Amino acid sequence: MIDSHAHLYFDRFDPDRNEVIARARDVGVSAVINIGIDVESSEKSVALAVANRDFFAAVGLHPTSKVADLDRDLVEIETLARENPGRVVAIGEIGLDYYWKEVSPEEQKPRLLRQLSLARTHALPVIFHCRDALADLLAILEAEDDLPPGVFHCFSGGAREAERVLRLGFHVSFAGNVTYPKATVLQEALRFVPVEKLLLETDSPFLAPQPRRGKRNEPAFVRHTRDFIAGVKDVSPEELEGTTDATTRRLFRL
Ligand SMILES: [Zn+2]
Repeated sequence: MIDSHAHLYFDRFDPDRNEVIARARDVGVSAVINIGIDVESSEKSVALAVANRDFFAAVGLHPTSKVADLDRDLVEIETLARENPGRVVAIGEIGLDYYWKEVSPEEQKPRLLRQLSLARTHALPVIFHCRDALADLLAILEAEDDLPPGVFHCFSGGAREAERVLRLGFHVSFAGNVTYPKATVLQEALRFVPVEKLLLETDSPFLAPQPRRGKRNEPAFVRHTRDFIAGVKDVSPEELEGTTDATTRRLFRL
């Protein structure tokens, strides 16, 4: 069982990070990818991946992170990727987010495009974050040629959008919110996506799955999302886990 998207460097984990990691291993989590949202958190993700053989890192600038100097920050992100082969496995999370208003769409778009070409240059996959901007993000990607492989994390669209994501060659990952009873649109998208194109993730500390809803999320809880998705896809949790683990290892070359 692999948690393909977590933020264990957040200070919410400072009091008990080692216990969180131990609990994940205890329930059979075999790998965790921590995802940077800016230079500092990307560095912390790399540090976790260097300290733990079963941890990996994605480095990147989230669309709504404060960036004072894009050129300088991109150099730092690129350096982290170049100097940590095998530990840095993706560029992310990158994308568009129109929900939070701190960074304008005009500022987000070049940030996205430049990180896409960074991924291309270093032959790394990408991890997309998208909130309230799916139409724009899909239009931008559909206009690009030579896209790197990647995943739409915490997928937030319906079956129609999922179809466009798949047509672009990307994978789809659902976070704990797919387990919520009212998440009918997400569940429709989940029914549409073939098991071979799915990844599992927690997005810890956010969006804990239904049995733990409202609590701080952690990688050990990925099993609840796995069980829910297995039920929707009508496969056993073990079969789903076997497939998603293989897909994740292939995509990120773990
Ligand atoms: Zn995230």
